[in-house]
Amino acid sequence: MNPKVFETPIEYLKGVGLSRANVLKKELGINNFGDLLNSFPYKYIDRTRFYKIKDIQPDLPYVQVLARLTRKEIAGEKRTTRLVAYAQDDTGVIELVWFQGIKWIEKTLIPGKVYVLFGKPSFFNGKPQMAHPEMELYTTGIKERQGNLTLQPAYNSTEKLKQFALDSKGIQRLTAVLIEQHVKDIHENLPPYITDRFKLMSRADAYKNIHFPGDSHKLHAAQHRLKFDELFFLQLKLLKNKLLHSQKFKGNIFSIVGDAFNEFYHHKLPFPLTNAQKRVLKEIRQDTQRGVQMNRLLQGDVGSGKTVVALMSMLLAVDNGFQCCIMAPTEILASQHYATIKELVGDDFIEVGLLTGSTKQKERKIIHEHLENGRLKILIGTHALIEDKVQYQNLGFVVIDEQHRFGVEQRSKLWRKNTIPPHVLVMTATPIPRTLAMTLYGDLDISVIDELPAGRKPIQTVHYYENQRLAMFGFMKREIAKGRQVYVVYPLIQESEKLDLKNLEAGIETMAHEFPLPDYRISIVHGKMKAVDKQFEMNRFIKGETQIMVATTVIEVGVNIPNASVMIIENAERFGLSQLHQLRGRVGRGAEQSYCILMSTQKLSNDGRIRLNTMVRTNNGFEIAETDLELRGPGNLEGTEQSGVMDLKVANLVTDQELLVKVREFVESIFEKDPQLALPENQILHQAFKSAQEGLSWNKIS
Ligand code: ADP
Ligand code: MG
Repeated sequence: MNPKVFETPIEYLKGVGLSRANVLKKELGINNFGDLLNSFPYKYIDRTRFYKIKDIQPDLPYVQVLARLTRKEIAGEKRTTRLVAYAQDDTGVIELVWFQGIKWIEKTLIPGKVYVLFGKPSFFNGKPQMAHPEMELYTTGIKERQGNLTLQPAYNSTEKLKQFALDSKGIQRLTAVLIEQHVKDIHENLPPYITDRFKLMSRADAYKNIHFPGDSHKLHAAQHRLKFDELFFLQLKLLKNKLLHSQKFKGNIFSIVGDAFNEFYHHKLPFPLTNAQKRVLKEIRQDTQRGVQMNRLLQGDVGSGKTVVALMSMLLAVDNGFQCCIMAPTEILASQHYATIKELVGDDFIEVGLLTGSTKQKERKIIHEHLENGRLKILIGTHALIEDKVQYQNLGFVVIDEQHRFGVEQRSKLWRKNTIPPHVLVMTATPIPRTLAMTLYGDLDISVIDELPAGRKPIQTVHYYENQRLAMFGFMKREIAKGRQVYVVYPLIQESEKLDLKNLEAGIETMAHEFPLPDYRISIVHGKMKAVDKQFEMNRFIKGETQIMVATTVIEVGVNIPNASVMIIENAERFGLSQLHQLRGRVGRGAEQSYCILMSTQKLSNDGRIRLNTMVRTNNGFEIAETDLELRGPGNLEGTEQSGVMDLKVANLVTDQELLVKVREFVESIFEKDPQLALPENQILHQAFKSAQEGLSWNKIS
C-alpha cells in the first residue's frame, strides 16, 4: 500500500509548481494529489458523433460537424469587429464567429478545405451559428482517431485559474500526469466478494475512467463503482455507529403490559387505532423489550395521529415503573399536548404535568418534588425539561416532538444522570424521503404512519391568480358565515424582511377593509411581535373570538385548531414545498371539509408552477417530499448540513435511490454476519472504518 502518495502537496506534481499550487488551493481547494484525483469532471463532451448541419438543434450542448469552409471576412468596426466564416456540408450552411484573436485565426482558415468543427451551437434568425468553435483540418483517418478522442472531460475552472493556464484543458493535463504516474497506487478498498457480487470495476480503473473514459460503457461502470464506494462507506459508518451505540447503551426493558396501558386502551381510547398506528406501536414495543436503548424516528403526516402513539408508548413505560416526558419546541405546542393528553387520559388516571418557561414558581416547585419522588408520571414541556434542576426519579421514555434537528448532543442531555438512558422517540411531521432518511438519520430506526384516520376528508386545494382575489374573498365570507375560521399567511423570508412586512401590512389593511367590524374580527401574529402579544392573539383565535388569523409563517407547526378550516397562502409561489405542506396541515383537523387556497401572481417560474401544481394534485406528504427532493436536491433540504449527504460527489440521492437501498441492505447483512468486521474477508473494511474514526475522510484514497 502506498496511500501516502496522495497526501503529497500539489506543488510537487509535474507541471504545477508553487504559484499554480497556490491558485489551485485557493480557487478549488486542491491541496494535494488526492484532492486533484477526486476532482471529477462535471461533464463529458461527446466527440464520437458527427452532426449534419440540418440536424443541429438549439438545445444541443456541444456538437461536432464535418464541413467545408466557403468564405471568411472581417466584419464590423473597432469594438464590434469580428471574424465571420461560413462552412457547409451537403445539408446546409453554418455561420462561424470569432470576437477575439481575430487576426491570428483569420490567417489559419483556408477556404475550400474541410474542417472538423466543434462547439456550442446557437441560432440567429433561425440559422445555426457557432461562436469560437474549435477547428481542426480534416485529414483522412480523423474519424478513426475517435478511439482516443471520444468523451472529453470538462473540469471546473475559474477566471483566476485561467490566468495560470489552468482552464478545463489545463486541469485535464495535470490530471493526466497524475493518473499516469500514480494509478498503480490506487488500491482496492473493497474485498473481492463484494466487487464480484456487485460486478464492480476495480477502483484504479474507476478513477482512470471517470477522468478519461475509454467509452461511455466504461464511464458508466466507473461512475457506478465510485457511487457504490460513497454510499457503501457512508452506510458502513452509520450502521457501525448505530451498532456501537446499541452495544454501549443498555436499554430499560418494558416487560409488562399493565393497568395504565390496558385501562387506556380498553376504556379511554375514543377511536380504533389505524393499522399504521398499531404497526408503529408494535415496533416500539419490540424495541423496548430488547434491552437496548431505542432511538426511533416516527414520521407521519400532520393529523396522522402521532400523539396517541406517543401516549400509549409512555403508558407502557409507566406500567413498568418509569417516568416519561414530551418535549415540544414551543410553549403553545407544549400546552396543546398537555390539554390533549389530559383530555385523553382524564383527571384521576395518572399524574401529568406541564413545565414551561411561564410555569409559576409555586407550581414549578410541586412539579420538581413530584418528579423526584416519582409521583409525576408524564411531564410535558419545552426546553425547560432539560434544565439542570429537573431531576427525575426514574426517566424511562422521552418523546421529542417536531424537532428533528434536535441533535444527538441535546438528546443525551436528557439522560446524563441516568446510568441506563431512556428510550427516545423523535416525532416529525416533515416527511423525509426514505433514502434521505436512511442517510440523514442512519443511526435512528424509522417508523412511518402512512395512513390517516378513517373518515378524514382530504383538504381541497386550489390555486388562484391575483385576478381571482374577489372570488377568494367571497369564499372566505361564506365559510365564516358557516362558523368556520380562516388563516391568511404571508411569506416572511429573511433577506427581504422589510418588503415582506410591507406586504403583510398592506394585506392586513385590505383584510380589515374587506372584513369590517363588528361582523369580522381579525387576529394578527408576526415575527416582530413580543411573545406575550403573540400568545394573546393566538389565544383569541383558539377561543374563537376572532375569525381570521393573519400571520406570517410564525404560526406554529403542530398547532391544532379544528374549527379553522380554511388556509389562504399569499404569494404561495415564494414558499418551498415542505413549508406549503406544513402550512396546509394547519387545517383539515376537524370534521368539516377543509380548504387551502394558494394565491400567486401571474408570473411563475417553472419550479414555482411545479410546486403549486404538486400541492393542488396531492395531499400526500411523502409524494410532496419526493418532488421537493427532485426540485431542490438533497443539499437544500432541512437538516442535511451536518450529514454525510453533502459529501457525496458522484452519488445522487434522487437518481441513485435504488442503489442506495441495495447498498444499505447489503451493509446490514454484513453486520449481521460479522458485527465486529473481524472475519478475514472483512479486514479491509475494518481498516477503512478505523482510519475514518481517526478523522480521515472516507472518500480519500486509502
Ligand atoms: P399529528 O400526527 O399531526 O400529531 P395528532 O396526534 O394531533 O396528529 O392527531 C390528529 C387528530 O386525529 C387528533 O384529534 C386525534 O385525536 C385524532 N386521531 C388520532 N388517531 C386517530 C384514529 N385512529 N382515529 C380517529 N382519530 C384519530
Ligand atoms: Mg403533533
